[in-house]
Amino acid sequence: MTLTPIDPLHAAIRTIPDYPKPGIQFRDVTTLLRDARAFRTAVDRLVAPWAGAKIDKVAGIEARGFIVGGAVAHQLSVGFVPVRKHGKLPAATLQQTYELEYGTDTVEIHTDAVAPGERVLVVDDLIATGGTAAAAIELLRRAGAEVIGATFVVNLPALGGAARLAALGVPVQSLVDYAE
Ligand code: AMP
Repeated sequence: MTLTPIDPLHAAIRTIPDYPKPGIQFRDVTTLLRDARAFRTAVDRLVAPWAGAKIDKVAGIEARGFIVGGAVAHQLSVGFVPVRKHGKLPAATLQQTYELEYGTDTVEIHTDAVAPGERVLVVDDLIATGGTAAAAIELLRRAGAEVIGATFVVNLPALGGAARLAALGVPVQSLVDYAE
């Protein structure tokens, strides 16, 4: 019998059944973030494919994308841009509205967050339908950035988000995939 080794990142992520509503398996990365070794391993793996690549900025999506994206930006020695929920940024913003299961939501960046032609890596903790990340990519493109990739700790491929970003021409990387 061959035993499948348990990936330390997979083991560090906690699943909360039926949160925030019945039928949702919430993939809780706070247990990974509090574990020094797992957090470092995750950031190292997220950064590894970009060693030697020309990157100008990391854009992290509110809120857990700030934690992971900030660490990735630090390790890549590049600047960090927050992609925030509407109404949180103090200066002039660009806004992008996207569809949710029920209703819509809006994300924003400062109009001067990126310079035209800058090469930007999008980071979040998790990709599900990809609606949030696609809106972030659209925003960054409207600001003139070149989105060179999108990277996530967790991917839920059945929800189609990674395929959606690939269809937008953005290479997608993830560390832990869940079948459902
Ligand atoms: P989506 O726009 O559908 O790709 O959703 C991505 C955002 O929702 C991410 O910022 C995640 O933090 C959060 N999210 C969606 N589904 C889950 C889930 N099953 N477990 C944890 N977070 C989730």
